[in-house]
Amino acid sequence: YTIELSGRVALVTGASSGLGWRFAEVLAQAGAAVVLSGRRMERLKELRARIEGQGGDAHVVELDVTDSASIRAAVAHAETEMGPIDILVNNAGISAQQKLLDATPEDFDDVFGTNVRGAFFVAQEVARRMVARSLGVTPGTWAGGRIINVASVAGLRVIPKLGVYAMSKAAVIHMTRAMAVEWGKYGINVNAICPGYIDTEMNHHHWQTEAGQRLMQMLPRKRLGKPEDLDAMLVMLASGQSSLVNGAVLTADDGFG
Ligand code: NDP
Repeated sequence: YTIELSGRVALVTGASSGLGWRFAEVLAQAGAAVVLSGRRMERLKELRARIEGQGGDAHVVELDVTDSASIRAAVAHAETEMGPIDILVNNAGISAQQKLLDATPEDFDDVFGTNVRGAFFVAQEVARRMVARSLGVTPGTWAGGRIINVASVAGLRVIPKLGVYAMSKAAVIHMTRAMAVEWGKYGINVNAICPGYIDTEMNHHHWQTEAGQRLMQMLPRKRLGKPEDLDAMLVMLASGQSSLVNGAVLTADDGFG
């Protein structure tokens, strides 16, 4: 049994590092043409070269998810260059560590501005185009599209000092369900994935600390996740074979969440 994404176009936000980098790479390996987006263009170009070196098809576009004009321009540019977007991996996000008593309005706006507002308006821009294309097509078929929102186990289970981040990821989970309810009839499947502890630039420093090492020892497999651990989950949700999987919240946390 194989999952094929040949002929599909995927937009990945936050493709310049960590999970987004790997998501883009694995979608390309499954046959999709990928649009790599983020603010760090040099990193995106590096990834494009890597994907092209593997025989894949990739295009780079600058996108700041906190900027509405940037979202509209990036999505339009992506579709002009690569064709209609079939798959959106809504991955860009930031973390912030602070106790709730210390969180400032700026901390709150930064986290919610990227993780919730940013993710929402990227999805809306892409979905408007998917809806326009899918009108008249049988619901549940591929013609609409696939949106995968990257939430976190922190959206399901609160972790001390990550309260504001956890609140933002809980919002991403509910946003996923809201989108699934409204957009399913257009053949758009919207699902959330909730990674556990994955070693990326976002948290690498923490795993070097004593507290990080202690936490790692509490994990069932006593190891951090790697972005590759999410490959199969992502490709399944991105594929046409997942037509009844809509509004799902899938965890990849080794049971720790
Ligand atoms: P990284 O810090 O490695 O990657 C974050 C990505 O988000 C970067 O590519 C960055 O790109 C992009 N980004 C941040 N802000 C913006 C913005 N304003 N506009 C566009 N892109 C932006 O972290 P991860 O790979 O770990 O995180 C990816 C997602 O996974 C996030 O949503 C995170 O919350 C989630 N997650 C991570 C977990 C982990 O343990 N690592 C666990 C659970 C969820 P650039 O700077 O180039 O713009």
